[in-house]
Amino acid sequence: MMGYSHSVSAAATWLALNESGLIHIQDTPTLIVTTLVAAGAGMLPDIDHHSGTIAHSIPPVSQWVARLVSSISGGHRKGTHSLLGLAVFWYLAYGANQLLYQGIPLLALALTGLAGGLALRVFKAPGGWLGAISLSVATLYLDALAYMPWAILAGATAHILGDALTVRGINPFWPLTVKPAVASMLWRKSGYMALPLLGEAGSGRENLLTSILTLYIGAYTLAELGILSTYPLEGARALLSI
Ligand SMILES: [Zn+2]
Repeated sequence: MMGYSHSVSAAATWLALNESGLIHIQDTPTLIVTTLVAAGAGMLPDIDHHSGTIAHSIPPVSQWVARLVSSISGGHRKGTHSLLGLAVFWYLAYGANQLLYQGIPLLALALTGLAGGLALRVFKAPGGWLGAISLSVATLYLDALAYMPWAILAGATAHILGDALTVRGINPFWPLTVKPAVASMLWRKSGYMALPLLGEAGSGRENLLTSILTLYIGAYTLAELGILSTYPLEGARALLSI
């Protein structure tokens, strides 16, 4: 999946989690901030790619970080695209929150600023990194920080699932390689798994899925603003039960 698709799917995942009640954010500013963080976290696993969007975000520091992460995590689509990687992302955000509660806000601000800034960048929002800094500081005054580890986990999980829908797939059990008894397109000898419904990254099918998810985000926004009377999943459920 491409960066924009990852961010859109991560934002849609976060909103769907809220609509389904698995998370429960009623305050709109908090929902906006956490959705942007989830959208940015939707690109976080590709921090293992030296020429990816994240590597080019704050050069040359981001390129050094990308190379370091890539060497620790075994290369592209390995450690950062695994269950272990998800646990590390969550723990990093959780640890940042704990430090913040002890009066050390730097890591939490950096993490929310990075994730939010990536989302603003990929959505081509005006303001650039100034917007990211404002977003990061805003989280201190909102009820958003408690949700950050979950927003980051949701975004990174959406990314990995998105990549699993492409031909190249992922190895969820990295650093282990679990080989199938009989290799197939779904589970290869290399241990990589895929349900390649989207084909190659950047395909027409990926664009179609991204468009549908964009419509979902749009409908959710209209419902949040009170312009639509029903939230999209609720509306879809009502339509299906007719
Ligand atoms: Zn990826």
